[in-house]
Formats: sequence, structure tokens, C-alpha cells
Amino acid sequence: GRSSLGAKLVLLGDMGTGKSSLVLRFVKGQFHEFQESTVGAAFFSQSLAVNDVTVKLEIWDTAGQERYHSLAPMYYRGAAAAIIVYDITSIESFERAKKWVQELQKRGNPSMVKALAGNKVDLEDKRKVMAEDARAYAEENGLFFMETSAKTAVNVNKVFNEIARRLPML
Ligand code: GDP
Ligand code: MG
Repeated sequence: GRSSLGAKLVLLGDMGTGKSSLVLRFVKGQFHEFQESTVGAAFFSQSLAVNDVTVKLEIWDTAGQERYHSLAPMYYRGAAAAIIVYDITSIESFERAKKWVQELQKRGNPSMVKALAGNKVDLEDKRKVMAEDARAYAEENGLFFMETSAKTAVNVNKVFNEIARRLPML
């Protein structure tokens, strides 16, 4: 087959859930305790290997605020994959994640690979969203589910690798 391909990936989810931090961890191996909030959207590119194929992920990190919502379709249109992020310490962020899933189901590319990421799993003592509830929701809606921490790096590479592995063009 082909030895390299590009795939557009979008991160969606409430402001403050850690979208930019997940990207920063994945792309640069860094974490910032005071991560600047994203204005509009930011673009990153990172290649990874899946078997003998190099997958170049073209990553759009969106802002998440309601006032930027009308811009979201620009980022998820044509996307091969999406990571919908919530914060395990915030029920509201989980509810917001479900709204994004619904929007993608309605308006996104039907073959889009979707991951639900429950971020900030290092804050176990402040947990509000049970992993079992999120996993059940993800299964019912055809997403794969992982809990992550951009801070400690738990499952960060894994979620991006799993996305790449599942791309339909591979
Ligand atoms: P975004 O608005 O979704 O892009 O969220 P940011 O990446 O800007 O992160 C919001 C805040 O949460 C920042 O202060 C980050 O340092 C913090 N943060 C992000 N990921 C984690 C994590 O996994 N664990 C903890 N404890 N804090 C995190
Ligand atoms: Mg951000």
C-alpha cells in the first residue's frame, strides 16, 4: 500500500478541558500549568508510524468557547478524525462533549473516527464523571474511549495512535 498519508484531526470540547495541553504533550512532550487559552484555533502537524505507513496528522486545536461555535464546522468539515475532550472533574464538560458528539453525528463526515477523551485523570480525588458512564456513552455512540492526562502523559500518545490506527484509508 501507500507509504505515507495525511489526515485531518480536530479537537473539540469545552474550554479548559485540556485540548491544547493534549496537543502540546503529544507534539512537543511538554505540559504548561498555565496554558494560554486558544484564540480561534491553532494548527499543528505531527507524523506517526502505523505499521509501515507514516501518517501525518494535521491537527486543528479549537477554542471551545460558545462564541467560536459557528467556526467549528470549518475545522471538522473534511476531518478524518476527531477527539472530543471533557474534564473528568466537570460534569458540565461531559455534557458539552455529548453535544459535540451529536453535532458530529448530524453534520460531520460519517466515516470520521471519533475518540472520547476524559482528560485530567491525574485529578482522581476531584473526579465527577465516572469512567464507566463515559465508556458506556462512547460505546453506544460508536466512539472509542480513553481517560488521559496531559499533565502526567497517561494515554496521550495512545489516543493519537489509536486514532491513526483506525483511519479508514489505512
Ligand atoms: P483547552 O481550553 O481545552 O485548550 O485547555 P488547556 O489545554 O488550555 O488547559 C486548561 C487548564 O487545564 C490549564 O491550566 C492546563 O494546565 C490544565 N490542564 C490541562 N490538562 C491537564 C491535565 O491532564 N491535568 C491537570 N491537572 N491539568 C490539566
Ligand atoms: Mg486551548
